[in-house]
Amino acid sequence: MLGLMQRHSLSISSLIDFAERQHGDAEIVSRRVEGDLHRTTWAAVARRARQIANGLEAFQLAFSDRVGTIAWNGYRHLELYYGVSASGRVLHTVNPRLHPEQIAWIINHAEDRVVCFETTFLPLVKAIYKECPKVKHWIVLCEADRMPTDDDLPGLISYEEWINSHSDQYRWPEIDEYAASSMCYTSGTTGHPKAVVYSHRSTVLHAYASALPNAFGLSERDSVLPAVPMFHVNSWGLPYSTAIAGCKVVFPGPGLDGKSLYELMESEGVTLAAGVPTVWQGLLEHVKQNGLRFSTLNRTVVGGAACPPAMIQVFQEGFGVEVLHAWGMTELSPIGTVCSLKNNQLNLPPEEQVKLRAKQGRALYGIELEIFDELGKLLPHDGKAYGSLMARGHWVVGEYFRPDDLSSSLVNGWFPTGDVATIDGDGFVQITDRNKDMIKSGGEWISSIEIENIAMAHPSVQMAACIGIKHPKWDERPIICVVKRPGAEVTREELLAFYEGKVSKWQIPDDVVFLDSIPMGATGKMLKTKLREHLINHRLPQT
Ligand code: AMP
Repeated sequence: MLGLMQRHSLSISSLIDFAERQHGDAEIVSRRVEGDLHRTTWAAVARRARQIANGLEAFQLAFSDRVGTIAWNGYRHLELYYGVSASGRVLHTVNPRLHPEQIAWIINHAEDRVVCFETTFLPLVKAIYKECPKVKHWIVLCEADRMPTDDDLPGLISYEEWINSHSDQYRWPEIDEYAASSMCYTSGTTGHPKAVVYSHRSTVLHAYASALPNAFGLSERDSVLPAVPMFHVNSWGLPYSTAIAGCKVVFPGPGLDGKSLYELMESEGVTLAAGVPTVWQGLLEHVKQNGLRFSTLNRTVVGGAACPPAMIQVFQEGFGVEVLHAWGMTELSPIGTVCSLKNNQLNLPPEEQVKLRAKQGRALYGIELEIFDELGKLLPHDGKAYGSLMARGHWVVGEYFRPDDLSSSLVNGWFPTGDVATIDGDGFVQITDRNKDMIKSGGEWISSIEIENIAMAHPSVQMAACIGIKHPKWDERPIICVVKRPGAEVTREELLAFYEGKVSKWQIPDDVVFLDSIPMGATGKMLKTKLREHLINHRLPQT
């Protein structure tokens, strides 16, 4: 017998309809690239999202057509999140920190028909414009009187002019909940980046679960500042979960330095902020140097990279701000775990609590996590055994979008996360390592292979290996270890200059180490673990 309840698809339109109806007057505050602070409401976001939908109809965009965004965290980006997805198109958020060549590749691979970009990214768009012939409309996120004029970029459209020429009356279509709603590219370790395509269902369920009390614990009493970008993994789902909870949302735009964040937090009564450890490091430095306190902030979600225990201690004991350590990845929409302590753990001494909070936490309802050894055997949850962390659940990737190789990414229905972890008896996951060799600098990935490939293109280089070295500000910075060709000469400076124009500036290694040989493993692969041990005390040059 089937249940006799109504059938309604889980849809992104239902989120914005709900926010408009129930929390229409809740504020959305944005620091804009223009420098000012813009104020709007969920109701106005909903109205303008409908104008976007009408604008996309006028462009004759079909169901599932992709709309790219190259934008900071702000109200216009939020409007696009809803206007694009709720009308049945697919929002493709593009990470502007990637190299232009990679961005052009991504836009072409996704087959974006429209790209909306912030005025700050005009030089980037200039660099890729001709490489993306399938993009029919380039929309600048600004008013008509602020439009850039550039002969190289014909036909640019002002976002404000575009949406204001369309009605705010629009009926969202009925959409299959498994239909695509948005997509995000991972950083490719080998070859090209891969795209994860989220569905309406996965997005809504992720928003539901991450808003719950044991996760972010969102409510309409919260003023939420997402410092984590909307251009990567949907800003941890906050544009959706805050709509369910009716939060006030405070968008920092490009202002992610400690001073700008602190001022915004104080002036807008921010209670919860979410970001990567490097961003919080800048914030804490500003607060400590100026003898400041947080008057409203009571919790911060830290993820994207391991949150150092020292940071947890400063937030918790120095400022009374609870740290909610979270782990996830693009393939998990992204939240997999959040570390909120159990009742009995709250009585533990502070140092024990910090140890627990340094773990990445427990899986949310809707996600299952297990660890397996090399032979695929399930490992115990004893907090000691470590193995490959695998995930399955409502918002875990099933397969990638048009992958280079067609083999399934799943192993017996489980998604291999690429992380190595332990799980304790209470279900707390601790990430011990990443089994790949990507380097994370300032919350962004750097592909060691890409860096090596460039060095290998230098005529004097025989072999190259790139590894990360700990850095006080950026977490890690890449260095390149090089074996010179016999009889060939190349200096450190020449090699670093060789990177210019080939990758973004921040991806260029901080140093070059010349070696006689690079340790090799039995299967002909470079043994980077050995190299890391060898260079553990390597001092990076001051920049
Ligand atoms: P991305 O897909 O860019 O979000 O990167 C996901 C990867 O970041 C994960 O597979 C982890 O290796 C790493 N990561 C994310 N959150 C954490 C965390 N809290 N602690 C340690 N590593 C993390």
